[in-house]
Amino acid sequence: MNQKFQSFFPPHRTLMGPGPSDVNPRILDALSRPTIGHLDPLFVDLMDQTKQLLQFAFQTQNALTMPVSAPGSAGMEAVFVNLVEPGDKVIVCQNGVFGGRMQQNVQRCGGQAVMVQDEWGTATDINKLEQTLKMHPDAKAVAFVHAETSTGVRNDAKALCALAKQYECLTIVDAVTSLGGIELAVDDWQIDAIYSGTQKCLSCVPGLSPVSFSQQAIDVIKQRRSPVQSWFLDMDLVMGYWGQGTKRAYHHTAPVNSIYALHESLLILHEEGLQGAWDRHAAMHLKLRAGLEHLGLEFVVKEQDRLPQLNMVRIPSGIDDAAIRGRLLNEFNLEIGAGLGALAGKVWRIGLMGYGASQKNVDYCVNSLRQVLM
Ligand SMILES: *Cc1c(COP(=O)(O)O)cnc(C)c1O
Repeated sequence: MNQKFQSFFPPHRTLMGPGPSDVNPRILDALSRPTIGHLDPLFVDLMDQTKQLLQFAFQTQNALTMPVSAPGSAGMEAVFVNLVEPGDKVIVCQNGVFGGRMQQNVQRCGGQAVMVQDEWGTATDINKLEQTLKMHPDAKAVAFVHAETSTGVRNDAKALCALAKQYECLTIVDAVTSLGGIELAVDDWQIDAIYSGTQKCLSCVPGLSPVSFSQQAIDVIKQRRSPVQSWFLDMDLVMGYWGQGTKRAYHHTAPVNSIYALHESLLILHEEGLQGAWDRHAAMHLKLRAGLEHLGLEFVVKEQDRLPQLNMVRIPSGIDDAAIRGRLLNEFNLEIGAGLGALAGKVWRIGLMGYGASQKNVDYCVNSLRQVLM
């Protein structure tokens, strides 16, 4: 084989799928600044600021708020391996792909996952959760996905957590696609453990997972009967590195430049304000919706359960899903998402996340779709 190796220069795509989203150029700029040591006092200061900005984004006072040095899936794993021990019962609400991953995490921790199933494309039925809580008074936690990226459904995190708390359960929330895109209030909503991702509504590069644990969750971790089976994700050990003060124990080498990027993305969110970011996502969703409906495309999810940042529309009959997405990518440098599972070939998922939730992207998407559908 006479393979020629050379530097990689990707094209400038417009990313309107389920993630990663378009990265703000300010963040790419931050990423390329000089690497410094991960125990350099200046970097330690940056870690502290990043934690504070994450507390702002999550709306929490939780001391244990930090980014896990790996993508959203690792944040998910961090939450489950720390909180679930063999024999524990966890109620998992599933109405899409990511609830299914929560189930697998519980089972791999040796726990029992009790499922509350709802149709993909509909929201979790709170009455079903209440019946399940009554049938399983020994449940330790309730877990669900706030923004189900696989379908574009918003689950009512505030109401689900309030109910779980009435039954004295810990609350575990997947906020990978919700953070920065729709309202989220960790302390007010009594969320005990939450994980997110950098590559959705924070518009940062993929590869980090902000997490936050309440005092109650930390108490549960401290009282474990068995050590956490994952060394890397053991929060007790990670806390020694990301904890308060200057006496930091080496745990792993933080992805220094990626932290610059996350810090910059949170700074941008802070400048806009949470309400401003949520309002912008909602406004762009309405504009995109008008454009798509004008093309004759129908939304699948009921209006009150729709996520502004992930728009799932039915593919009109007679239209070749892969051919259209291929043309968008090759001729327009535009990426939109395919359907997953039973929805494969039937829907498109159009993301309006973070920096990509803009008038420019809305217009580009509607105009490009108009041309390829003609
Ligand atoms: C994208 C996503 C994840 C996984 O995040 P990765 O960064 O791809 O590991 C988990 N949950 C939800 C709801 C997501 O949208």
